[in-house]
Amino acid sequence: MELNSRIPSGPIEQVWDKARFDMKLVNPANKRKHSLIVVGSGLAGGSAAATLGELGYKVSCFCFQDSPRRAHSIAAQGGINAAKNYQNDGDSIYRLFYDTVKGGDFRAREANVYRLAQISVNIIDQCVAQGVPFAREYGGTLTNRSFGGAQVSRTFYARGQTGQQLLLGAYQALERQVQAGTVTMYPRTEMLDLIVIDGRARGIVTRNLVTGNIDIHLADAIILGTGGYGNVFYLSTNAKGSNATAIWRAHRRGALFANPCFTQIHPTCIPVSGEYQSKLTLMSESLRNDGRIWVPKQKGDKRKPGQIPESERDYYLERRYPSFGNLVPRDVASRNAKYVCDEARGVGETGLGVYLDFSDAIKRLGRKTIEERYGNLFDMYQRITSEDPYQVPMRIYPAIHYTMGGLWVDYYLMSTIPGLFVIGEANFSDHGANRLGASALMQGLSDGYFIVPYTVGDYLATNKLDSVNASHPEVRNAVACVQQTVQKLLSINGKRTVDSFHRELGRIVWEYCGMSRTAQGLDTAIGHIRELREEYWNNVKVPGSGDDFNQSLEKAGRVADFFELAELMCIDARERNESAGGHFREEYQTPDGEAQRDDEHYSYVAAWAYRGYGNYPELIKEPLEFNYVHPSQRSYK
Ligand SMILES: Cc1cc2nc3c(=O)[nH]c(=O)nc-3n(C[C@H](O)[C@H](O)[C@H](O)COP(=O)(O)OP(=O)(O)OC[C@H]3O[C@@H](n4cnc5c(N)ncnc54)[C@H](O)[C@@H]3O)c2cc1C
Repeated sequence: MELNSRIPSGPIEQVWDKARFDMKLVNPANKRKHSLIVVGSGLAGGSAAATLGELGYKVSCFCFQDSPRRAHSIAAQGGINAAKNYQNDGDSIYRLFYDTVKGGDFRAREANVYRLAQISVNIIDQCVAQGVPFAREYGGTLTNRSFGGAQVSRTFYARGQTGQQLLLGAYQALERQVQAGTVTMYPRTEMLDLIVIDGRARGIVTRNLVTGNIDIHLADAIILGTGGYGNVFYLSTNAKGSNATAIWRAHRRGALFANPCFTQIHPTCIPVSGEYQSKLTLMSESLRNDGRIWVPKQKGDKRKPGQIPESERDYYLERRYPSFGNLVPRDVASRNAKYVCDEARGVGETGLGVYLDFSDAIKRLGRKTIEERYGNLFDMYQRITSEDPYQVPMRIYPAIHYTMGGLWVDYYLMSTIPGLFVIGEANFSDHGANRLGASALMQGLSDGYFIVPYTVGDYLATNKLDSVNASHPEVRNAVACVQQTVQKLLSINGKRTVDSFHRELGRIVWEYCGMSRTAQGLDTAIGHIRELREEYWNNVKVPGSGDDFNQSLEKAGRVADFFELAELMCIDARERNESAGGHFREEYQTPDGEAQRDDEHYSYVAAWAYRGYGNYPELIKEPLEFNYVHPSQRSYK
């Protein structure tokens, strides 16, 4: 199989305009004849469903929460990037493009990233028009702050609740369409399979999470905006419900999965505090604008932070990376936190922590300004740790946060199954091996408001789609598969809970496919995952029935998929004999411990084809070309 990314030719600044002009349009009167399914109502899915509804298509939108407002996107704290250059500090579309390609360690497609930077400016206008309350200067203009991997201030924010405010904007737009009758919302409904007929995506099989009903929904095209798979690690900053089932089941039906091992570990999370913890909390990267990261110079120094004099503190990011200081990208900041903790200079009871200290900023700017900028994050930290970050430095440690990998899509955001589009964190598209902070919201809204509404139209206008109905053998086959899996999980009646398996799986993936990886460790992980998966299918206990609300059953299906995905992540990490961004193979590092890429052999997107349960997947490569930003050793010094 050959992958065709369908990147239009021409100068990069004109590619998207040209593509939009070349795309076929659907006549307004014909739009209402087309039915579309959008799975997901977070920033990506919600904005896509609202926009497609506004265009006049008949849209069905699905989410597993009780309301679209509860999508994981609501948790996003720090902000959204856009190349508006309001600060007049040298930003431009090209600079955002450059920073993103470099930040992703030269493992993303240039054309996609350029388009993202171009569209970023439209997103801000769209959201302001919706009434999203971005922070403003005294005179009323929108204000910005800085995020990692950039030397300009281009991040728009609404205190520490940017995702929530953006989602409320998208939600209003979505509800307007629900009211207008163009969008039908299906909350508490989980997609459990994709229906593929004659090689095209034509529907989904869902389970109603309240009644247990298994239903069929057919359409002319399907759009997945189902979020990332960070919860494969069990402990993560993601919402507990986030899962990979929709994309994994689409993968099993033929959609290639790209770069699964590219996962992001965020440097500023509240450290793990105990065995039974089920969730980790992010302290937004925006805090690195004013907080300074340090550890004691001396190994094993157990003094309280206030007792350690300035001369005995190591502000290790400022020391090692004088140009970017505390604002180095996430992969670099996380790895350095690990190094100092490995040297026994970590802080807190476990020694797995570093300080994020605001005392200088409070002295310089006053407590009120810090409260205005980060008040809700400080309150959250205090509630969780019982420590007051206005008085003592925060303790932070890296944690899994985001997944750059996802279903492979071409320039038009279509997967390898015609008619199946994938948007937001669920696809692999724009961030390469490391996402820069505040770029996920930008990508989700770019995909949902501004890209997929055009590209779906082009697909509908250029393909003749026969009508399909529920009696088609492929529809019946998909329904039978879903029913069998549900019955199988309920019938095992073993001795271990779903959570206990998930926790153990998470430990394996964190240990061997987390912040650093080795070939030997990955082989070990693959063996452990297979053994544990075998036990899962013989010894998991799922209480209750499939005929009503049953959260153990929901989790059981999702964890079954995490097992297979975890193995694919390790296989992908094993196959990529280089370090790039968040994928740090210990064997491949520069003398001063930075990621050492191998452009000659690994400058490609690794797209994996499913070859049956337990079988080794097939690797298909999409070579990457860099005509504008030439690959170099990333340096933030
Ligand atoms: C704590 C935290 C803070 C963050 N802060 C920022 C930030 O400041 N800036 C930034 O750019 N990024 C941030 N991110 C990343 C960003 O929030 C996410 O990448 C982004 O919100 C993902 O949006 P999405 O629409 O792709 O998916 P989600 O918001 O995860 O939405 C997924 C949707 O799919 C639905 N769904 C999933 N599976 C199924 C299924 N099988 N059936 C039916 N429905 C399904 C869900 O119900 C939901 O509606 C943060 C992430 C975390 C964890």
